[in-house]
Amino acid sequence: MTLLELTGVTASYGPVRVLEGVSLSVPEGGAVGILGANGAGKTTTLRAICGTVRAGGRITFDGKDIRGLRPDRVAALGIAHVPEGRGTLGRLSVLDNLRVGAYLRKDRKAIAADLDYCLTLFPQLRDRISSTASALSGGEQQMLAVARAFMARPRLLLLDEASLGLAPGVAKTVYDAIGRLRRESGIAMLVVEQNANLAFTLVDTATVLETGRTVLTGSAAELRGLDEIRRAYLGG
Ligand code: ATP
Repeated sequence: MTLLELTGVTASYGPVRVLEGVSLSVPEGGAVGILGANGAGKTTTLRAICGTVRAGGRITFDGKDIRGLRPDRVAALGIAHVPEGRGTLGRLSVLDNLRVGAYLRKDRKAIAADLDYCLTLFPQLRDRISSTASALSGGEQQMLAVARAFMARPRLLLLDEASLGLAPGVAKTVYDAIGRLRRESGIAMLVVEQNANLAFTLVDTATVLETGRTVLTGSAAELRGLDEIRRAYLGG
């Protein structure tokens, strides 16, 4: 079943149109990548879904029209966003960041169990539980950002450039944990990632954007086999 569907989505910053027609769909429990060059509109696509930029076209989640909803309403429906730059609360501790992630929930026992699960998924965070987020390394901050989003128990996770600025080994650790989270939680994921090799370890299908338009959608295996994808995104 389709969980998220975008059809002909448009968006602008002031007078400048940056999305011209983005169409993609994420099935329940599926993971979909968005590939594209710098400035193609990947981040803006996630913002259109979250309601942080005004969008045209059609955006449905679980069959309901969510285009134009305020960001807090979108979050309450079960969409969590891990923005580029992570968006953790620097002055709060790791533990408090995770608690903030769960602020809309009331099921205290389940929250405690999920907190423990996060710390199993990212053992580094258990060691740093009382540190302020700003004192963490880049990799640990990214782990915290993902864990915090999970604490909301969303049905869909939007991930923006989770590998940005991380050493290759650290980026792999982060993606391995996200893959495990996906398998164990069944949360659907829409993933923006410059590093397509890494994205393909996580996603089933991907959509390629060029100057604000969807130009290609296919399975990870199909896309990997295309020369143009290999040249543009896979370094070969
Ligand atoms: P990147 O990998 O560089 O983040 P992207 O594919 O995510 O690229 P977007 O960040 O969505 O692309 O940007 C699409 C276009 O919109 C770019 O031309 C960018 O310069 C422009 N843009 C992005 N944010 C803003 C903003 N807040 N105000 C004005 N223009 C913006």
